[in-house]
Amino acid sequence: MYSDRINALPPYLFATIDEAKAKVKEQGVDVIDLGVGDPDQPTHQHIVDSMCEAVRDPSTHRYPSYSGMPAFREAAARWCKETKGIDIDPATEALTMIGSKEGVAHIPLAFLNPGDVALVPDPAYPVYKIGTQFAGGVPHIMPLLEENDFLPDLDSIPKDVLEKTKLMFMNYPNNPTSATASLKFFEEVVDFARENEVVIVHDNAYSDMVYDGYEAPSFLNVDGAMDVGVEFYSLSKTYNMTGWRIAFAVGNKDIITGFGKVKSNIDSGAFEAVQKAGITALDSSQQCVTDMNNVYKQRRDTLLKGLDAMGLAVNPPKATFYVWARVPEKYSSIDFSSLLLEEAGIVATPGVGFGDYGEGYIRFALTQTVERIEEAVGRMEKLDL
Ligand SMILES: *Cc1c(COP(=O)(O)O)cnc(C)c1O
Repeated sequence: MYSDRINALPPYLFATIDEAKAKVKEQGVDVIDLGVGDPDQPTHQHIVDSMCEAVRDPSTHRYPSYSGMPAFREAAARWCKETKGIDIDPATEALTMIGSKEGVAHIPLAFLNPGDVALVPDPAYPVYKIGTQFAGGVPHIMPLLEENDFLPDLDSIPKDVLEKTKLMFMNYPNNPTSATASLKFFEEVVDFARENEVVIVHDNAYSDMVYDGYEAPSFLNVDGAMDVGVEFYSLSKTYNMTGWRIAFAVGNKDIITGFGKVKSNIDSGAFEAVQKAGITALDSSQQCVTDMNNVYKQRRDTLLKGLDAMGLAVNPPKATFYVWARVPEKYSSIDFSSLLLEEAGIVATPGVGFGDYGEGYIRFALTQTVERIEEAVGRMEKLDL
């Protein structure tokens, strides 16, 4: 009944985890869920208020424009200038997306012919690989190894692969490893993209979730990046807006145009009331972002104590709301996450859920209150590993 592309999908690990979690809950265990990367706090009030007003305005009720409201794209360009120092022409170099996931899933359709290669990091957000496959492309895995600071080794990609490569995905600050990339690495990526004629898609979903004074550079800050790539910015994590489905792409005009052609034939744009709320988020004081980062930082520092107690000490991540830790050697990542769930009632995501190179690691999301994380740490301290 199903197409080959559906039949070829890997088993969905997260459904299995959900089942295991439900089972433990049924036994009456107070489960602490550090599994999902979904902010637990509500969307900030000024954004909700803006949405309420916008939804009462009948002008928002009709089909939106395909490329996004000009006012939203202008707000995105202002935000890019203000927070990242990049100059974007909102008319030609910006596009509204219905969440970055939508963008990641659809952009391969604009650049890959069947058999063309997309470079996909591993471990990673699973949609890079699946979006490539749905478009008939061939994912070539770029391992993200701890000894390389979880950056891909571009020099190790074979020549015959490069000849067929049209697209490359990257994501820094990174989910799941919480690694960051320097401007120097981005410069290498620009050279690589020029040399091999590869379109770069930088999925920058955690651009503003940063700690301890760290500022995540934009890929587009690098000279020449505007010639080879686009950057995806999502309001989901930055403004606690995962449910709203709003994001934008900025960067090279021709890439934006090609991607826009795909989108105009698939979706009919993002609800204009949501775009208006998005304008409010982007244009208002960014203090709410700083405040959330202070909350996540406190949670991070709390959780790190528990990891220490289990012998899984890690350096504090500079960005994202994830902590990526090596599991004790005698366990696989799935066995260790099962043990945490069954012995401590704690949900965390086994690294292998993000690809083969995630094996040996586990990801904790800082999406519970400090009090709940303290409770989790207490349970971790009692574990006998
Ligand atoms: C959460 C996440 C997304 C999804 O963002 P949406 O804008 O909500 O679709 C994309 N990429 C990465 C790496 C993420 O972690």
